[in-house]
Order: sequence, then structure tokens, then C-alpha cells
Amino acid sequence: MQLRNCPRCGRLFASSGRGMCNECLQEDARDYDLVRNYLRDNPGANMVEVSRETGVELGKIEEFIRQGRLLAYAKLQVACEICGAPIASGRLCESCRRGFRGGGPEPEKPGLEEMRGRVHIGRRRGDRRS
Ligand SMILES: [Zn+2]
Ligand SMILES: [Zn+2]
Repeated sequence: MQLRNCPRCGRLFASSGRGMCNECLQEDARDYDLVRNYLRDNPGANMVEVSRETGVELGKIEEFIRQGRLLAYAKLQVACEICGAPIASGRLCESCRRGFRGGGPEPEKPGLEEMRGRVHIGRRRGDRRS
């Protein structure tokens, strides 16, 4: 065991392979439960509504989305870190990821990723919030 600073609260904790201190891990699990329970009853809710109704910070919900933990809920999106396009998980949108690949090594599962990207783009149209 080694002592580390928790990236979330900054306190020293004994690292056991997980990235955060116990308190933050528990808080994270509790927040995730709140969000998931709310979404079970309100599958069409967007991030702002979820945050307002559950009291969970937007930033945390965004983290859950980027980690791919809320993939079942199509309305929940985060912004691509390069172009700002809405994406359902991860950090980059399909086209930015593609731009990065350009001639590089083979991506892991190109077919699946491409299909997913296309479905999402289709669904986004007409659903634009200004
Ligand atoms: Zn902590
Ligand atoms: Zn992008």
C-alpha cells in the first residue's frame, strides 16, 4: 500500500489500486446510483435535468458519461474535446478520432465504431438545442 493524494478531494489515502480515496469512491457509487435510478424512471431526461433532480454535480454526470457508464441513455451527451460535437461517451467524436488515426495502426473494432457513430449522427438531427 502506498499513500497518495486523492485526485478528487486532495486528502492522503492508502491506495489499493483504485484511483480515489474510499470516501470519494463511496460518494461516486452513491451518486451513480442516484443518477441511474432517476434515469430508470426518466429515460428521456437530459444532463441538466438529471443534475437538478438528483443533486449530483454536472461534472460528475459528465464523468459517468465519458466512462461509458450511462450509454443506455441516448439523451445524455458530453462534448467532443476537440470540436465540441455531442458524443455519447469517451472524449472525442467519431470524426476527430478518425482524423487522429489517419494512416496509423489499425483501430480495434472499426466496424462497430463506425456503425455507432452513424446511428448517433442520424439521431441527433432535429434534436438540436440552441
Ligand atoms: Zn477523496
Ligand atoms: Zn470532434
